[in-house]
Amino acid sequence: MARSRSAMRAANAPVLTTCPYCGVGCGVRVDSVKTPVRGDEQHPANAGRLCVKGSALGETLGLDGRLLYPLRRDRAAPDALQRIDWNAALDEVAARFARTIAEHGPDSVAFYVSGQLLTEDYYVANKLMKGFIGSANIDTNSRLCMSSAVAGHKRAFGEDIVPGCYEDFELADLVVLVGSNTAWCHPVLYQRIVAEKERRPQMRIVVVDPRHTPTCDLADLHLPLAPGSDVALFNGLLAWLARHDAGDRDYVEAHTQGVDAALACAQATAGDLDALAARCELTRDKLETFYRWFAETEKTVTLFSQGVNQSRQGTDKVNAIINCHLYTGRVGKPGSGPFSMTGQPNAMGGREVGGLSNTLAAHLEFSDAQQRDCVSRFWNAPRLASTPGLKAVDLFDAMHAGHIKAVWIIATNPVVSLPDADRVREALRRCDFVVVSDVVASTDTSRHADLLLPAQAWGEKDGTVTNSERCISRQRAFRAAPGEAQPDWWVLAEVGKRLGHAGAFTYASAHEIFDEHARLSAFENDGERLFDLRGLVGLGAAAYDALAPIRWPVLQPGQGSDRLLGDGRFPMPDGRAAFVATEPQRPAHPVSAAFPLILNTGRVRDQWHTMTRTGTAPTLGAHLPEPFVDVHPGDALTQGVRDGALARVSTEWGSLVARVRCRTELRRGQIFVPIHWNDQFASDARVGALVNPVVDPISGEPEFKHTPARIEDFGFDWCGVLFTRGDIERTQLAWWARVQLAGVQRYEFAGRGAVADRGAWARAVLGIDDATPDWIEYRDEANGVYHAAAFREGRLHACLYIAPSSALPSRQWLAERFERARITGRDRLSLLAGAPVGAAADDGPLVCSCFRVGRNAIVRAIRERALKSPKEVTACLKAGGNCGSCVPEIRGLLADCALAEESS
Ligand code: SF4
Repeated sequence: MARSRSAMRAANAPVLTTCPYCGVGCGVRVDSVKTPVRGDEQHPANAGRLCVKGSALGETLGLDGRLLYPLRRDRAAPDALQRIDWNAALDEVAARFARTIAEHGPDSVAFYVSGQLLTEDYYVANKLMKGFIGSANIDTNSRLCMSSAVAGHKRAFGEDIVPGCYEDFELADLVVLVGSNTAWCHPVLYQRIVAEKERRPQMRIVVVDPRHTPTCDLADLHLPLAPGSDVALFNGLLAWLARHDAGDRDYVEAHTQGVDAALACAQATAGDLDALAARCELTRDKLETFYRWFAETEKTVTLFSQGVNQSRQGTDKVNAIINCHLYTGRVGKPGSGPFSMTGQPNAMGGREVGGLSNTLAAHLEFSDAQQRDCVSRFWNAPRLASTPGLKAVDLFDAMHAGHIKAVWIIATNPVVSLPDADRVREALRRCDFVVVSDVVASTDTSRHADLLLPAQAWGEKDGTVTNSERCISRQRAFRAAPGEAQPDWWVLAEVGKRLGHAGAFTYASAHEIFDEHARLSAFENDGERLFDLRGLVGLGAAAYDALAPIRWPVLQPGQGSDRLLGDGRFPMPDGRAAFVATEPQRPAHPVSAAFPLILNTGRVRDQWHTMTRTGTAPTLGAHLPEPFVDVHPGDALTQGVRDGALARVSTEWGSLVARVRCRTELRRGQIFVPIHWNDQFASDARVGALVNPVVDPISGEPEFKHTPARIEDFGFDWCGVLFTRGDIERTQLAWWARVQLAGVQRYEFAGRGAVADRGAWARAVLGIDDATPDWIEYRDEANGVYHAAAFREGRLHACLYIAPSSALPSRQWLAERFERARITGRDRLSLLAGAPVGAAADDGPLVCSCFRVGRNAIVRAIRERALKSPKEVTACLKAGGNCGSCVPEIRGLLADCALAEESS
């Protein structure tokens, strides 16, 4: 079995590692497993900062729900999982894959992997599938996140290159954030921009987003453009730059090609400002302000993220942005360039090793016979796949159609995250053999696994990741892996050996794999491929273990590269960057009478992906505890739904139930649902099931931001909240959502119909038998109100409240009752009343997760102490003083209080 070198460190020695969440890739310092993690002050990405997710990493280390041993499922008895040993599990994977390949060919099998994997895991998975199984059917969940950026980079630059680095955001005089709620999705980078804006208030920020997100807190200009009009907006910019002679003619002439066609297209499609303003649903004044700022600001960085990439025209959107940077010669210069922000911690690492089905490895391409030959010889792999494999959506379609008969899913949850996710679930049911490697035992995807393989988690595994600025950092182990969890690279290599390729998979450590990866990047590379790690070749195990963060390319030991392409030489056959003519298109599915709204999806501040990790951290569950749908108040009125009520959101592909939040931050006609909730945390909340499976024809990235939808009231007769230290019986609830607290579960729920005996019903739901003596209850049958609480050994064990509307006790106050070692008589009375009796006021729902400061506490402090700015709130309550992600919310509360005072 594999054991990492780092895991052997002294248990109390500080370990420098990296955060496993977003693409910022912050450095993390772990002093001991018993103390909270801290930001690594030496890491170039964050210089000691962490957002709330990173700060709460220590809360996610528990073993509850972990997959600890290989398990086999019999489809005839799906709930009866059988523990097997690793040898049996590995033999079975190899035998089933070998048999499928022998009977149906190599393209009948597939791997579906993840941007959560370490580069070394990714490398081995890719090598096994493309080099030795002989198929390119390996794709990654990064397909859903940044594959449009990859395709756009390749078209413009010739290689998948992010030219700049994070420092450019601090050097820029204009930062344009497109399709990115940076404040919530990349909080530490956002805080770097905030700090620079405070230092240089003249620095300008433009936010391009249909929603008014917390990121707009920082914006000098917000462009709430019509969904899907980004290509027109940037074509308009290109045409405007040309009309005003604001380009860099010398640069365009010397370093690019294709400008005439791109300009002609831009002029034809977006040259008329009035028509363009109408198309983007923006004022002409706003358009001109943006264009003028862009034209006159040499140091401009344009950050783009999922709002750009996740579209049927994502690649064109990327190129429309890059066109404007090429036209002004602003690529790869300090404080200047286009910048793709990746969602996941190792999306970039996956791109390096060929985790996408349409790339080979080390930025080598299928389309070039010489490059295929190069990889084949390097790996000594005579069966190297010769053509690209299936991209994620197509791959699961092929499985649904019976063409993919065996699949190995590693570190991802496609039944939640892919579009048309119910069809993905059905595809897995139809697939003959499903292997899932994961950290947790029960996910929406693992329910369909024939074999479950336990993987090492963050803090246990060892390797490297590459963040959005090309910075390679070590992820180091600081605790022993529990049970029989293994590194993913080891499991893949063992299967490779059993498939008859022992010589190619003899790795004894992650370090050996990294060395091979570095060697491949340098192999027959005379400078034509910019991805080059030759300066990291031959690192000894100790040097690898001690490797400090470094941005690629690394051509000399210890010398990384901050920026690329700034010299105007591009890895194209003619050395020139390419303009791409981008014709604006409408989203694939227009709204209709049946589906009159546009469903947009995205992340929230304190959760990550499908919540398998963040969902277990009590700190992170408090901010937004339920699945919700944001609706403009005007649409709520016309669609017959109310703020705070439950609604069913439906599309042609599926439906879910979520809490309605009326928000003027949305444009009329648009609704927003977060991507995180799934069957483990709510009865009916997988938004992937609703998303249309339309993809960009070039990148294969799905259109997550535009699905026609409708919304209607989800009628219920009563609703409630319960907290319990035990499990509950959920089948009697029409709807529920669960939040994990420290040793306690909180459920919001709703039900229909009359309940004859509330007491019996409550006991049944809470699993409390009649013999439990310490049970108190309050009934107001006439008003449909019921309260109950159960105690064990003097502590609160469970409590449950039902009311006909959502007028229920403060959740924060209830949660605090569970922190008490003993419940006094007065507390029992309060619990029965559902409100504190003569006690301190309730602090309200959490706003600042880092310091656990509630809304009511902030509002009280603003009023009582006449606080005027977020800084004063921080000085008074600490709120907003760590990661800063809640500062926009605090600013909103300050504005609300000021408004209330003015009108009183
Ligand atoms: S910004 Fe937050 S989630 Fe992203 S890497 Fe840094 S600490 Fe982790």
